[in-house]
Amino acid sequence: MDKTNRRSWAEPFKIKMVEPLRIISREERERALAGAGYNTFLLRSEDVYLDLLTDSGTNAMSDRQWAGLMMGDEAYAGSRNFYHLEAKVRQHYGYKHLVPTHQGRGAEHLISRVLIKPGDVIPGNMYFTTTRLHQELAGGTFVDVIIDEAHDTESTHPFKGDVDLKKLAAVIEKHGAAKIPYISVAATVNMAGGQPISLGNLRGVRDLARKYGIKVVLDATRAMENAFFIKRSEKGNEGKTLADILLEMCSLTDACTMSAKKDLLVNIGGFLAMNDDALFEEARNLVVVYEGLHTYGGLAGRDMEAMAIGIEEALDLDYMKSRIGQVEYVGNGLIEAGIPIVRPVGGHAIFLDARKFLQHLPQDQFPAQRLAAELYLESGIRSMERGIVSAGRDKATGKHNCPKLELVRLTFPRRVYTQAHCDVLVESVIEVFRRREKIRGLKMVYEPKYLRFFQARFEPL
Ligand SMILES: *Cc1c(COP(=O)(O)O)cnc(C)c1O
Repeated sequence: MDKTNRRSWAEPFKIKMVEPLRIISREERERALAGAGYNTFLLRSEDVYLDLLTDSGTNAMSDRQWAGLMMGDEAYAGSRNFYHLEAKVRQHYGYKHLVPTHQGRGAEHLISRVLIKPGDVIPGNMYFTTTRLHQELAGGTFVDVIIDEAHDTESTHPFKGDVDLKKLAAVIEKHGAAKIPYISVAATVNMAGGQPISLGNLRGVRDLARKYGIKVVLDATRAMENAFFIKRSEKGNEGKTLADILLEMCSLTDACTMSAKKDLLVNIGGFLAMNDDALFEEARNLVVVYEGLHTYGGLAGRDMEAMAIGIEEALDLDYMKSRIGQVEYVGNGLIEAGIPIVRPVGGHAIFLDARKFLQHLPQDQFPAQRLAAELYLESGIRSMERGIVSAGRDKATGKHNCPKLELVRLTFPRRVYTQAHCDVLVESVIEVFRRREKIRGLKMVYEPKYLRFFQARFEPL
């Protein structure tokens, strides 16, 4: 029962400070987009009206968090804010040891270096860009073991982030447990559309891992949003708090990497946390080389304070209802208009199905990249490609990886945009959909070596 009897997803906060937005003309947008090589990552933020590029570090902090910044203890070693953060991570994530890092990929780098040997195999529920790259740089190979439904944009499976335990067992049988340093489990699964993993499935993963003596490492970046879906849709969890569920999820794993720029309502930060003393020892040695001393990990004391406060705020059920409610509001508006999107709507984003949206474009003409560009031209809304460009090239053959999913991601910063902004978004997507047949493809004219989606440039065909 909702103790407050609030009937909608209305936000449990009000606006105290505003940041002006402007929208530039269609001609200026055309110029800006051409200048950015049709890559929304290369646009200037000033030229963007609604910025739905990412939910990473784009959150609005609360008055408490801003006050927390003033409480920053900027000592080089042993900052008070580190101990506050450590206590909150222990309380809510449950791991024994904390290693702060400047953001999520810092944590991924450390754990990949410590645990992965050349030739190792890391199974996981769909790759994430930086996670997989760090695994590969350490000499490992990522193997996807997510359930098939995750690749089907129309399947309404409530936990499309689940691991296919048969696939996982087959990978372990094939390569042998000695070649598998850990199972990489994300909650929610970003690349599948912010789709959650169920507690039951995570328990299954843990049981299988135990049987073979393999570790489980959780990408906890959006684990709190995942906990909300478990509470709402997984039988037997209705009565639990988000905090209960988060703790239970983490207890099924050995360690986590965390990008605090998502769930934790801050603009920068991350951490690695684990139970194993030896792993902690090594990570603590390495963090000094790559991030900073183990009590700040590349962060200012004030950043750690804002994270510690954000942990409590993000576990508030009314907050989380408004967070997920906003994304679902847009999703429902698009579904009603017949726009092809990934179903069910995920936690942090709406994903337009560019294959279905721009049916006339073959995948090597970058339909999702094109659709993201078109939405910007239409109304100054910035989204991003999650398809063939993001998937990069095959290490062995050098060919494009051709993912089944060719998506445009509309990602929602937390506590930033209003319901009227959401309406503008829905109307704009509908307008582009109406004239979709006239939209032509792109060719890639510049391709960086790593994570090419960030800096690649395109021209219209
Ligand atoms: C953002 C993200 C990361 C990487 O974190 P950064 O803070 O961007 O370095 C890792 N995993 C997932 C699922 C993410 O969304």
